[in-house]
Amino acid sequence: MTHPLRLAILAVLLLVIPTACADAGGEDDRPLVIASTSVWGEVIEALDPSDALRVEVLLPPGADPHEYQASAAQAADLRRADLVVVNGLGLEEGLLDAIEAAEDDGILVIHAAEYADPLPFDGHEEHDEHAEEAHEEHEEHDHEGGLDPHVWLDPVRIGTVALALGDLLDEQFDGLGAADAAVEYAAAMDALAEEMTELLAPVEDRRLVSNHDAFGYFADRFGFEVVGVVIPGGSTDADPNSRDLAALTARIIEESIPAIFVDEAVSSTVAEALAAEAEGVVVVEMVTGGPNGEAPTDSIEGFLIENAMRIVDALGNG
Ligand SMILES: [Zn+2]
Repeated sequence: MTHPLRLAILAVLLLVIPTACADAGGEDDRPLVIASTSVWGEVIEALDPSDALRVEVLLPPGADPHEYQASAAQAADLRRADLVVVNGLGLEEGLLDAIEAAEDDGILVIHAAEYADPLPFDGHEEHDEHAEEAHEEHEEHDHEGGLDPHVWLDPVRIGTVALALGDLLDEQFDGLGAADAAVEYAAAMDALAEEMTELLAPVEDRRLVSNHDAFGYFADRFGFEVVGVVIPGGSTDADPNSRDLAALTARIIEESIPAIFVDEAVSSTVAEALAAEAEGVVVVEMVTGGPNGEAPTDSIEGFLIENAMRIVDALGNG
């Protein structure tokens, strides 16, 4: 016969053991916030001083945010998150379906770049008839409303987004203290912009030619001019036509443009061929997707400073 006390002890053990196991195994019952890119993941972590949120970043380090597609498991995670923060403005083309499915399920999805005082893509693309035709063909690749999504290459804009995110996070999660943390964070981003301005001060030749059209906000903040782009259309998946490439090559030679800035996550084959044709042009790899998990470019401050130093090295004293 079983003694009633034994049953009571057994019942207590059954109740206690799973909890104890869960604690030992580190199961995380904090609210889940999924950020699409490393930039917004780092910002959310900074706005959560007591580590009350479980923050996950969808894109693997160094992935191309334009192209990356969510795995089935990641798509499922998006639909059970407490909050999703994407860059938006058409950046995450490969994630659109997964993001929309989460929104349809009633998950709150914040489009961070919309709070960054976004700018249209600059008028540096030459629109001859041929380019216009190509443009129409590639309409499905255009960014929403023609606004440039690459706001994270300007630290001041990261700070502006942080201030908006602070309020939004406090609305969602009681007692987070995100708005206060955001004020401090935005001040740090302003200081980072000043540091970059000083770092870039020796650069007299402020013309940028890049592989894809990522440097609009950088140019706007630090007084540079994007004079040419190898891959048309603001994303990374379009093919440049031969006429545009010939025009860009001619311009690089004529105007003695010293460098082409390419992306670590995007093929630079065409840019390399172009540089080979225009003798003496250096191809410089940049970190354009945000922190990439490898020191010294594994933080927002780290990748922005490193990019600035690579520009100083390449464009030097003019
Ligand atoms: Zn891009």
